[in-house]
Amino acid sequence: MDDRQDVSARFAEGAQYIGGRLRDGSSGVRHHVVDPATGEAVLGFELAGAQDVEEAVAAAKEALPGWAGATPGERSAALTALARAIDARAEEFARTETLQCGKPIKLSTEFDVPGTVDNAAFFAGAARSLEGRAAGEYSGDHTSYVRREPIGVVGSIAPWNYPLQMAAWKILPAIAAGNTIVLKPSELTPLTSVMFARAAKEAGIPDGVVNVVTGAGPDAGERLVGHPDVAMTSFTGSTAVGRRVAEIATRTVKRLHLELGGKAPFVVFDDADLEAAVNGAVAGSLINTGQDCTAATRAYVQRPLYEAFVSGVADLFGQVRLGDPFDPSTDLGPLISQSQADRVAGFVDRARSYATVVTGGGAPGGELAKGAYYRPTLVTDAAQDSEIVQKEIFGPVLVVLPFDGDDEAVALANDTPYGLAASAWTRDVYRSLRATREIKAGCVWVNDHIPIISEMPHGGCKASGYGKDMSQYSFDEYTQIKHVMQDTTGVARKDWHRTIFGDR
Ligand code: NAD
Repeated sequence: MDDRQDVSARFAEGAQYIGGRLRDGSSGVRHHVVDPATGEAVLGFELAGAQDVEEAVAAAKEALPGWAGATPGERSAALTALARAIDARAEEFARTETLQCGKPIKLSTEFDVPGTVDNAAFFAGAARSLEGRAAGEYSGDHTSYVRREPIGVVGSIAPWNYPLQMAAWKILPAIAAGNTIVLKPSELTPLTSVMFARAAKEAGIPDGVVNVVTGAGPDAGERLVGHPDVAMTSFTGSTAVGRRVAEIATRTVKRLHLELGGKAPFVVFDDADLEAAVNGAVAGSLINTGQDCTAATRAYVQRPLYEAFVSGVADLFGQVRLGDPFDPSTDLGPLISQSQADRVAGFVDRARSYATVVTGGGAPGGELAKGAYYRPTLVTDAAQDSEIVQKEIFGPVLVVLPFDGDDEAVALANDTPYGLAASAWTRDVYRSLRATREIKAGCVWVNDHIPIISEMPHGGCKASGYGKDMSQYSFDEYTQIKHVMQDTTGVARKDWHRTIFGDR
């Protein structure tokens, strides 16, 4: 069986996973997952509508008392089994991810799937470390302690760029902390999220704890955010949609976690290792065909290194192999869709009137013309306030600009609405300390760009949102703190009662 037949067989019943059962949607809208490398349909199914969201939330609500009441050790054992279940199907996950996203198989195999397994293993351990912090006798005749409790049913919405990892980042901390969840993946890439939910069942996680509704954003997405039985919305996607989600969530006073867009600066000081910086910029800007919220998008290079940096990046961009995502030697796959490729082309075409396109700037021809490919593109001579420097492009496009002094570099790095990620390249420890302190971002790498680890938080500031994925910090999103204050005296009338109603 080829990959497409394999997917058709696995998803014969549809792409909704509700209450432990795979089934079709009921919106009346038929939709196709498309392979962006060929433009061919991979799977047709009916999108989730109102009834499906209703049933998924009901399933999550029903499963909540049992799952929230499980001991941390029981939840930990289930997550360990989930890590093993995904690992056992690593190849199936990697191939399906590549089929629906067009990402090179080496990326799915070496980054997306092992990252997901590691995340599950991390949260299996972290589930047992949940604790309330303060406990003590702060008032003479009381003892106080803090309970860290699950929030309830979590509604999560995820984008298409790393569908498997996004499902993991949303589902794992939520269920490790005792919540149940309804995830709405992007309708462009639902397959590995549904596979993740099925692996949870295989691992012994009870039906209803993990549900997936595959529907359109303005329909299933908004219904999930607005649902009165959903206690929290956790959203990863664009800043524009995040604003809309926040408006709807506010109506029911939900807890909200927003991981939004980015426009990461890449700052190269004149004492940097030039070769390392050039390699870092190429990998950091082209990972996942630039469809990465932390991708390097704006390189600011101190004047003495500027020319050499531009020619080094242009040279490597020219060597990047675009091709069939299933070919292990392919470096760069297509964008997620032709409309995304057209959007990227629009930014670059408009930039020709005010900047220089040094290399790239178009789609490859030949066999690749049928896919949503776009060549690695290097742009220089753009003004800081131009759209190619300010707006999120989400494609294989890097803009390089020169700077003179360190103050200027930090000011330029901070001069967009976003604050998700950044990197500083220098061999001077004091310069790096200053840059890491002054650049406003959720993550600043020094002499690297992109690596993520399960133990450390991911999440931004400014228009990139708030809240953290991964790490122990994510439990601050997915738990609520309750203060319990217990009388220790057994005396009916306390001293402080006299303050209220005297000595009667
Ligand atoms: P998007 O905002 O278009 O869609 C994200 C999700 O929201 C999808 O599931 C979509 O169906 C849903 N959606 C759309 N309209 C909705 C609505 N009105 N109500 C509720 N849900 C709705 O983003 P995308 O194009 O899928 O992904 C790319 C974006 O995601 C980029 O901006 C990127 O920076 C961002 N992103 C951020 C992070 C992060 O960690 N900060 C990670 C990955 C991607």
